[in-house]
Amino acid sequence: MIVLVINSGSSSLKYQIFDMKEEQLLAKGLVDRIGISGSSLTHQPLNKEALVVKEDIENHNQAIELTVKALTHQQQGVIKEMNEIDAIGHRVAHGGDRFADSTVISDEVSNKIAMLFDVAPLHNPPALMGIEACARMLPKVTQVAVFDTAFHQSIPEKAYIYALPYEISKKYSLRRYGFHGTSHKYVAQKAAEFLQKDISALKLITCHLGNGASIAAVNGGKSVDTSMGFTPLEGLVMGTRVGDIDPASLLFLMEKENMNIEEMNSFLNKKCGVLGISGLSSDFRDLEEAAKNGEHRCQLALDIFAYRVKKYIGAYSAVMNGVDGIIFTAGLGENSPTIRQAITEDLGYLGAELDHEKNNRRGEKEISKQGSRCKILVIPTNEELMIARDTFRLVKTS
Ligand code: AMP
Repeated sequence: MIVLVINSGSSSLKYQIFDMKEEQLLAKGLVDRIGISGSSLTHQPLNKEALVVKEDIENHNQAIELTVKALTHQQQGVIKEMNEIDAIGHRVAHGGDRFADSTVISDEVSNKIAMLFDVAPLHNPPALMGIEACARMLPKVTQVAVFDTAFHQSIPEKAYIYALPYEISKKYSLRRYGFHGTSHKYVAQKAAEFLQKDISALKLITCHLGNGASIAAVNGGKSVDTSMGFTPLEGLVMGTRVGDIDPASLLFLMEKENMNIEEMNSFLNKKCGVLGISGLSSDFRDLEEAAKNGEHRCQLALDIFAYRVKKYIGAYSAVMNGVDGIIFTAGLGENSPTIRQAITEDLGYLGAELDHEKNNRRGEKEISKQGSRCKILVIPTNEELMIARDTFRLVKTS
């Protein structure tokens, strides 16, 4: 079965295509600057040269048309004709409390995704544009929606209800949803495979540390708490997002700096995090370099970032009454020994002991010392493969 995976943003569309017989990635690509001048498609087939197309791409319909052309291209194509695509899996950021699993897309599902525009104004509209564009181009192909929030629907009420008046929480469906669920689920499953244990018997803490960062407590394969909340702004310090903060400080700042709601929203999402603390960059590579050269605010940004992750690890160990494995993933989690060390220093009380040599070796999966009661693992995430797997599973049974 050939599965096309689509991750559709407001001005970009990423895709990967898999042959699910061996879970083999055939090609991946990016349509960039949709609706903006200078748009292009970059198509990278496996073991072949890349194809770059530079032309005006005005909307998601054209982006999908171009994607199909690249996939069926005479030289750089990976399928002969578009009929070979058996199913399409879409990444959808927000499923609200309506979707606890991936689902085959129908008109009703599309309507429900649209009803969540209010809570995910940046992410759900482009996802639906991608879905509609595929439906127009490939009307006979089954489409599946895979939600970033679905994995966290197992979180109990005591962890997802905020201390607002209950009727207000219900009226607006204002609660913790959590994000990066596809990634947390994937690395938790991979960790269980690596440890050769049944996931139902494991207490894991998964740390998805990229430009956006979140952490989850996964007990017996189910998410029981996570740091992102109603939106992806809560929780850890991120590249440019503020994470946890006293809500009263926002009111204080709005008054002092004369900011309206839109300005405050943009400030919290784009000007804060390690960028705001350091004043230099949201990229941890820049911060690590500058910190080595004695830049105090860059070192401080790294310290605050690691400290927040460490606090959550403590909290989630308490929530689960112990932890068998701490897993690092995403850009920073997979690539920065410095940050992993800062986070896992002094976790002896959990029986988690970092092996410094392994931590500094690229490609090492287990970075805890031999005999460490709690394992520390580095597991590259693969959200696209997870989406392809869910799509394959649902299409097989539908
Ligand atoms: P992601 O959002 O998962 O793509 O992660 C992107 C972030 O990972 C970048 O902003 C970098 O800060 C971080 N990153 C990637 N590679 C490295 C590295 N070798 N060392 C430190 N940070 C890295």
